[in-house]
Amino acid sequence: MKGILLQLTLFMALIPLCRVTAQGCLMTPEMIVSDPPFNPANLEFSKMPLDRCLTIYAETDYFTYLAFGGDKAAVANWLKAIYEQVALIYAAENVTISLASYYIPDTSGGWSDGLSAIDLMYQFGGVVKEEANGRVKMFITRRILGGGNAWQNELCMNSRPANVVNYTGGYRGPYAVCGNMTAHVTPISESDFSWNIQVVSHELGHVIGLKHTHSCSYGPNFDMAVDNCYTQQGGSCDVITPVENSTIMSYCHFTSLGISFEAGFGTYPGNQLRAAIMNASCLVMDEMAILTGELNGIIAADSIILSDVQATNLILKANTLTIETGELYATFEVMNSGCQ
Ligand SMILES: [Zn+2]
Repeated sequence: MKGILLQLTLFMALIPLCRVTAQGCLMTPEMIVSDPPFNPANLEFSKMPLDRCLTIYAETDYFTYLAFGGDKAAVANWLKAIYEQVALIYAAENVTISLASYYIPDTSGGWSDGLSAIDLMYQFGGVVKEEANGRVKMFITRRILGGGNAWQNELCMNSRPANVVNYTGGYRGPYAVCGNMTAHVTPISESDFSWNIQVVSHELGHVIGLKHTHSCSYGPNFDMAVDNCYTQQGGSCDVITPVENSTIMSYCHFTSLGISFEAGFGTYPGNQLRAAIMNASCLVMDEMAILTGELNGIIAADSIILSDVQATNLILKANTLTIETGELYATFEVMNSGCQ
């Protein structure tokens, strides 16, 4: 996304933008013909600017507060730093995420000692405030839990009883738990792997809908694995060639290959990630795109305003409005981004 924006910025310097207030050169989205209908399956996702913002609510615990010496500001800075880096991982996939709000308890109580990641996930869903600002609710803790947990493919689901034996009161929904967090947040520019950034990126990937890369759920027919780093899940299947190791939804950190942030989510998981965001009915596209000049490709925003556009092959997604006319090049500016 950064690369695209930079490129577009350079291009925009040559063509003056038409602002909303400039009368006489605007075309409203209503004037765009919605034909053919928007079909995400036909998109070339790697070139699609995604303007949908996925917001996160992060909650930590008293244990973590104490682990930072009772310094609430330090915990807040830690959470922000984590999501800043996770946002970079997602930005590399053209997905925008933002830490919308967080909660740091500074009094004891809440969670008992000795709970596992899955215990916490069930219970967290039952007590996290529905009105908490952020679509995905993540419990982030310094407790040693052995890893993390998430409800898979629950991005747009509402909280509901988990119906799991022995977990009466357990709830499921867009919830994840990330344990074993450490105090230091290493920028991805300084290290190609760190636990804090990996576990949050990985569990968030699950909530959005991604399975592990050693599961038989990738490839053109969703029946192949991406790598061999762990025992296959979902049956026995072929591995996609070329094998993409070390991606974020993998268990390659259990092998000598490790996980590399540079590898990102990989081709198929990345495409599924973008498709899931694009199809997520709960994510409101509240941005406005002001477009001018020669446009190319696919542009998504809630409100798109065009000015002196010349295009012969353009799809605009503005509340499912689509236009296709032909040629290439694009310049646009996204205003009022839902992500801060
Ligand atoms: Zn996982």
